[in-house]
Amino acid sequence: MILGKKNIIWDLDNTLYRITPEFADILDEATAIAAIEDLGVPLDFETAKAKVKESYRVYRDGGEIFVKEYGIDPKDIFLAYHKRKPVHPIVPYENLLEKLEALPCEQYIFSTSTRDVCEKILKHIGLYDFFKGRFYSVEDFDTFKKNESADVYLQLCQRINVDPKDCIFVDDSYSNLEFPKEIGMTTVRIFYNENSAKDKTYIDFAYKGINSFLEACQQQPSEVCG
Ligand SMILES: [Mg+2]
Repeated sequence: MILGKKNIIWDLDNTLYRITPEFADILDEATAIAAIEDLGVPLDFETAKAKVKESYRVYRDGGEIFVKEYGIDPKDIFLAYHKRKPVHPIVPYENLLEKLEALPCEQYIFSTSTRDVCEKILKHIGLYDFFKGRFYSVEDFDTFKKNESADVYLQLCQRINVDPKDCIFVDDSYSNLEFPKEIGMTTVRIFYNENSAKDKTYIDFAYKGINSFLEACQQQPSEVCG
């Protein structure tokens, strides 16, 4: 594996911890309840939950369907969902902090969760001190997504003062890798069941779970970070 980069920028959700199918279901329910109770979407719970699942399939985003079909403001669904997003069901990976500390490169997080939720999750999984002052939310750049334009990645690089060509971007959601690649980053996709994005030319490397990526890094650290 030949990466040779100075910086790793991690996605948070489902990358630095796993969103199990059970937790995904809890998150879908939180989105559905936010749509109905906070934003007045006129659906019953089961229908709204089915809409969230459809939204993930079609738009890679659970709330987007309420924006498209019910005229909900993207910022409103983003904030309402994150206020209801639970953190306690997350099971942290064992020894992840030690494994990250062993990587000889600068590390950052860029997340589609709100800052507030990022902070809660990082505290819950024991990575808050490691990433303090180094984690960014899309809301820091007045947007809600990482898969709509390269602009947000350019702003992030400016903020942390790095050249995209010196960065590895790691994300489980393949659509979040298109624009980092466009601006010159090396891209790594973390998948779980099977690599469903083999056809995407903007993905440089794919690993099953973060631990297999970290093992590859451990075996040849000088080729990962340098
Ligand atoms: Mg993710």
